[in-house]
Amino acid sequence: MKSAIALASGGLDSTTAIAIAQTQGFDIHALTIDYGQRHRCEIEAAKNVIKALGIRQHVILAIDLRAFGGSALTANIDVPKNRDVTKIDDAIPVTYVPARNTIFLSLALGWCEALGAQDIIIGANAVDYSGYPDCRPAFLEAFERLAKVATKAGVEEQADYKIYAPLLRLTKAQIIRAGVEAGVDYSLTHSCYDPSPEGLACGECDSCVIRKRGFQEAGILDPTRYR
Ligand SMILES: [Zn+2]
Repeated sequence: MKSAIALASGGLDSTTAIAIAQTQGFDIHALTIDYGQRHRCEIEAAKNVIKALGIRQHVILAIDLRAFGGSALTANIDVPKNRDVTKIDDAIPVTYVPARNTIFLSLALGWCEALGAQDIIIGANAVDYSGYPDCRPAFLEAFERLAKVATKAGVEEQADYKIYAPLLRLTKAQIIRAGVEAGVDYSLTHSCYDPSPEGLACGECDSCVIRKRGFQEAGILDPTRYR
């Protein structure tokens, strides 16, 4: 089995990407970044999904991006609600966290090289998403090139680093169907940017709206607990 590092947020996409990677024979080492996100229950969800997927090694790394702010997820900025989903990808919304996936992939690459692995799994999606630039194919391709020139393993051993993003070109409905097929229990996952203190989803932020529509389009019962 090929070892791989997987970024695990506890959300629908990363959980599905990991489950798909497992069916393709990867031995997953899960990495969750506790970046001070306002939706704290993501971390609990990540622990639960990683356990349910039978992954033995799960590192939760704390790096508090609230020190930088600049996002509705890391600063005192309201999370936009009830936006028109057909216009959702027109402009990059305030829920964008500055350079988040660059930071996360850099941390994953550090562990990847230390472990002697070459694959990093990420649930990036460039179809049903909020238009974040660091979810697009061009970004992931550039990061692969960076990994090869940035590491000792890349330079001395020609390590062929790959960013494995199996959801990149799927709709949310396709992602959910693939996840159900791979055995994902979506009731364990958390997507909402602005949950209640008990962890109930708001049903109105972009993440909730996209997720809800995905279940509807997939014809699968949405197990999300809404407030
Ligand atoms: Zn929400």
